[in-house]
Amino acid sequence: MAIAEQDACEQGLAVFEAKLQRLFEEWKAKPLSAPENEFPVALLKELQEKGVFSALFSIEEGGLGMCRSAEGGQYLFTLLRRVGYLSLSLGRCLEGHVNVVRLVELYGTTAQRHVLRSRLKQAGLAGIWVTDGNPLVTLKREGSSYRLSGIKGFASAVKQVSLALITATPNQGAPVMVLVPTTDANRQRPGPGTLTGMHASGTGAYDFTGLRIAPEDILGSAGDYLRQPEFSAGAWRGSAVALGGIDHLVDLLRQELLARGRADNPHQLARIGEALILRKTAAMWVKEAVKAAYSVHMASEDVISIINLARLAVERAALELITLVQRSLGLSAFIKGKAVEQVMRDLATYLRQPAPDEALTEAASWFVHNDWPEVVS
Ligand SMILES: Cc1cc2nc3c(=O)[nH]c(=O)nc-3n(C[C@H](O)[C@H](O)[C@H](O)COP(=O)(O)OP(=O)(O)OC[C@H]3O[C@@H](n4cnc5c(N)ncnc54)[C@H](O)[C@@H]3O)c2cc1C
Repeated sequence: MAIAEQDACEQGLAVFEAKLQRLFEEWKAKPLSAPENEFPVALLKELQEKGVFSALFSIEEGGLGMCRSAEGGQYLFTLLRRVGYLSLSLGRCLEGHVNVVRLVELYGTTAQRHVLRSRLKQAGLAGIWVTDGNPLVTLKREGSSYRLSGIKGFASAVKQVSLALITATPNQGAPVMVLVPTTDANRQRPGPGTLTGMHASGTGAYDFTGLRIAPEDILGSAGDYLRQPEFSAGAWRGSAVALGGIDHLVDLLRQELLARGRADNPHQLARIGEALILRKTAAMWVKEAVKAAYSVHMASEDVISIINLARLAVERAALELITLVQRSLGLSAFIKGKAVEQVMRDLATYLRQPAPDEALTEAASWFVHNDWPEVVS
């Protein structure tokens, strides 16, 4: 990138962050009003209007390169954390959208990057739907095109997403990534059942059976989706969203105790102290994960292992925080309709990410034989 272009981009990112901060303060001051199963359309629209979605694209595509550069990664971290604070459900959807932009930038052709940009300009939200339903999604060659069959079982924002990146398993070999429109309401399915939390994420299922796709809808090569370190490294973004939920919960704990005149009690103070430690611990882990994700010096296994441990550290901090909040606020933390109750449920649900045992033991077996690397940002 030319120096002038880089300067313009850095200025653009700084302006972007200031705008985001204002928007965050405004939304933070608003009381929870929409029913919890309603998709947060107003917040999504405001983020789109403020240019958040455009900023994600590369500079060549008219964005601020937030999904590629280490500097962009710092802003992305703040964005995901802030949105996670305001709505874990929208945070989940934004994180999926970011993942699509990133994968298309990494593995797509120039034409595919243009297509993504123009489709999202018109229709907004992209989804990454990789978790298979029953039957799993397969891909079969038919002449010069391909036919999809099967169901994606966890599809966030199933009614809002207009374009999804899905994985599909061919007759032979590893799954491929496919970019496919998802606007056919007749293909939407109810999903895995009613989750305890994250209702506003509108997570359902989508049936791809019979859909034809062209060769240019296939992204990268077979197996690219699972290519490391990208496959595991992307988990830092989910942790950043969860951290936003942790921030929110700590604030709600303080506010509730103050409102009830209980904040000066020594037992409550001890729990507030513990909560602050948990939040800071989670934040430090996510920052370490962001540095690892963008490091150009670190071995792939170091990156994967650090990010896997970060994901679990954030999970543990959040679970401990939930226990503290329940103890501190008592039954009032269990009253439906209160923000604190909803955030706890959303957070506990969102923390269920794939294969946590494997993430822990694989990281452990790497660091049994290897020293922790110096993180070079
Ligand atoms: C609100 C929400 C929205 C979501 N949206 C999407 C989406 O848009 N797109 C998408 O693709 N997915 C989505 N998901 C699914 C998500 O990405 C994960 O697939 C899902 O959360 C995995 O959770 P799990 O607890 O069932 O994981 P699992 O991996 O099944 O883990 C459950 C437990 O089983 C253990 N385990 C895992 N594998 C094995 C094994 N082989 N043998 C023995 N034990 C095992 C794990 O370590 C863990 O202890 C969403 C999930 C949520 C909660």
